[in-house]
Amino acid sequence: MRRVSRPVGDNKNQTAALHPDIARVLLTEEQIRERIRELGHAITRDYAGRRLTLVGILKGSVMFLSDLMRELDLDCTVDFMCLSSYSGKESTGVVRVMLDLRESAEGRDILVIEDIIDTGLTLSYLMQNLKTRNPRSLEICAFLDKPDCRKVQVRAKYVGFPIPNEFVVGYGLDYNEQYRNLPYVGILKPPRA
Ligand code: 5GP
Repeated sequence: MRRVSRPVGDNKNQTAALHPDIARVLLTEEQIRERIRELGHAITRDYAGRRLTLVGILKGSVMFLSDLMRELDLDCTVDFMCLSSYSGKESTGVVRVMLDLRESAEGRDILVIEDIIDTGLTLSYLMQNLKTRNPRSLEICAFLDKPDCRKVQVRAKYVGFPIPNEFVVGYGLDYNEQYRNLPYVGILKPPRA
């Protein structure tokens, strides 16, 4: 990947170079790290004494999940689901389960780890689906939330950052499978004519 040696954001601890396709950084590595530490403390407190099952939604939540789980001082297991509803920058509205849980959800404390809530269609479908499996509890932890974009109501118990209605990439989030490995969240430059 081509990088230029321009530091990201104003933060002195920021080491990554800005990708040439990124117009603007919305969240720096340092901001993300601090917020994840706070989320980890809140989840550790709320689930103290219980065994938590983290359900990562592939692929966008992978970086968030791996950083968040390191901040949990709890017994926990990890499972994954892969859902598909997006093509490019548009939600198709039709949610398909591409990969399901390996373990039964019955009687478990399930915390769904999602990259971003936009229209809410994906998580609304997923929560209905998981509820039918009789978990002991079922909650959502979303890294990002775009509350202005909701088409259906979805309640996330934990949210990393509410963000404005802009298409973002990085820290696990992609545009046509690119940019997932950027350690910050940024907004793409408009495509050249
Ligand atoms: P929803 O069903 O809530 O509209 O969309 C959820 C999924 O859409 C997310 O898991 C994510 O994959 C994708 N998505 C929504 N907004 C964005 C965005 O701003 N950037 C990227 N890269 N993906 C998004």
